[in-house]
Amino acid sequence: MFRGLFCFCAGLAVSAVAGLGAAQAAEIQWYGQAAFKITTSGGKVILIDPFISRNPKTPEALKDLGQLGKVDLILVTHGHGDHVGDTPKIAEMTGAKVGMNADLGQSFRTLGVVPNEQLIRFNKSGPIQPIGEGITVTMVRAEHSSEYVFTDPATGKKRVVPGGEPAGYIIELEDGKSLYHAGDTGVFADMAFIGSYYKPDLALLPIGGHFTMDPTHAAYALKELLKTKQVVPMHYGTFPPLKGTPEEFKAALGDYDGQVVVMQPGDTLDF
Ligand code: ZN
Repeated sequence: MFRGLFCFCAGLAVSAVAGLGAAQAAEIQWYGQAAFKITTSGGKVILIDPFISRNPKTPEALKDLGQLGKVDLILVTHGHGDHVGDTPKIAEMTGAKVGMNADLGQSFRTLGVVPNEQLIRFNKSGPIQPIGEGITVTMVRAEHSSEYVFTDPATGKKRVVPGGEPAGYIIELEDGKSLYHAGDTGVFADMAFIGSYYKPDLALLPIGGHFTMDPTHAAYALKELLKTKQVVPMHYGTFPPLKGTPEEFKAALGDYDGQVVVMQPGDTLDF
C-alpha cells in the first residue's frame, strides 16, 4: 500500500488510501498514544490499550465511546492509566472479552474492574484464540513496569494494586498477516526472538522516550533486532515528556529498507 522507503503520509492521505483498499484488508485505526482499533477482514473488532476519552491526542469526534460500536476483544499491555484507559467502561458497554497478564487480571477480578466472565488472564508465549479460530494472540515480553491505580467507587480513594508484568502482543489475523504491538517498552535483546520467531508484518513501536524507547533506541530495535518491514510509531507527543518525533525516528533509521507509516490520531491504515 505504501510505496517508497519511508512514507510520511498526511493523515488525510492515509485515510483516503485506506478507503480504497481491497475488501479483504484489515483496518487499523490509531487513537493516539498506544490505543489502536483493529477491524479484521472477518469483521472482528479488537482494541489495544483503549485510552480514548481522556486522551489529549484523540480527536474529539472519537472520544465518545459509543462510536466504537461492537467490540469483540480488548487487549491491555499493562496497568498504567494511559493503557488501561477506558477498558472498564468499554467492557461494560460492549461485553467484549478483555485479555491481559494473569496478575493484572487477578487484580481486576478481585476488585471487580471487569466482570470475571469477560476476563482472559494469560501469560507470555501461550497463544490463545479468544474470538474464534482465525485470530491468534500471543503475549510477549516488554521491558517496562506495571502497576494499577484503583479508585474505590464507594469512597473515591485511590490505591495502588499489583499490575503483573508488562507485555506486548503478537496478533495474527485471519489472512495470516501478523502485527506486533510492543506496548510500553525499552529496547531488549529478545526483540530479535520476536522478529525471527513471529515475523510480524507490521510493528507498532513506542518512540516518545522517557518511559519507553526514544527514537534512537526504537530505530536500533527495528533495524538490528525486529527487522520488521513496516512500522507505525506510537506513544509520542501525548504528554510533554514524550518528546521523540517520527522525524527523529526516520533520521535514526538511516537507510533501513522499511516503511515508516506516520499516522495522525484518528487515521486508519489498510493492513
Ligand atoms: Zn506504561
